[in-house]
Amino acid sequence: MQIELRDVSFSYGRQKALDGVSFCAEKGTMTAVLGPNGAGKSTLFCCMLGLNRDYTGSVLLAGQEARSIARRDFSQLAAYIPQSNAPVYNYSVLDTVLMGTTGQLSLLSSPKAQQLRQAETALEQLGICHLAFRGLRELSGGERQLVLVARALVQNAQILIMDEPTANLDYGNQQRVLQGVRTLADSGYTVLISTHNPEHALRYSTHVLALQKGRRVAFGETEGVLTDALVSELYEFPVTMAEVSTASGTVRAFVPNADCENKGNVL
Ligand code: ADP
Repeated sequence: MQIELRDVSFSYGRQKALDGVSFCAEKGTMTAVLGPNGAGKSTLFCCMLGLNRDYTGSVLLAGQEARSIARRDFSQLAAYIPQSNAPVYNYSVLDTVLMGTTGQLSLLSSPKAQQLRQAETALEQLGICHLAFRGLRELSGGERQLVLVARALVQNAQILIMDEPTANLDYGNQQRVLQGVRTLADSGYTVLISTHNPEHALRYSTHVLALQKGRRVAFGETEGVLTDALVSELYEFPVTMAEVSTASGTVRAFVPNADCENKGNVL
């Protein structure tokens, strides 16, 4: 098992943010973490990344307790891919990806031919070799997000943890990034990804973990777990699952029930 959480709880002072969450993810799976704002998604990720250390229960990454893993070892085990925001510095794509190899280098040494080969392979894997010498500021949001994924790949970690990687992307780039991420899962990586869009989970994830008020309300294979009833309950907004015929087969999508009164809270 690559990721295993057993009865994990975490509180900020008296505010309970995670309440007895358990799930596991095997090699080659892509688990989408769904839930409304405040459900506990970020808290869960921080526990997994060893940033929230005061949890109870157990967070195991490749069998090791997350909070006890030394930072350098952690980087070989799991890579975190943040949302892509406007970069402050205009580092080249290649230099940015090479930064992911830092964990392999000793203090003050610089990347060698081996790291360069790794960076080139990662760029190839994601189909962005042609961007290698462009500056980060000269890229689209989608291209920049793929660069962050490439930087994670050169860490040689088998677990990829992504916090809403499509948050700032246009529709086409969202699909391209998620397709790329799913391909990585299919090639053996274990991917955990949070998203606000249940359709992303429906189309690309193999598994779904649904959280509400810090508790697990559903977990399992996407096909069986991600129903319109679950999405309606999670987001307090009624939806129906529709099946649409396309040139490449039948595609399922959630459609909001527009004529239903929204009984949820406006945040
Ligand atoms: P999500 O990522 O699903 O939006 P979070 O994990 O950020 O949810 O938040 C879960 C709960 O913990 C929420 O009730 C939130 O208000 C609370 N929370 C998050 N961060 C803090 C913090 N630093 N201090 C106190 N409460 C927090």
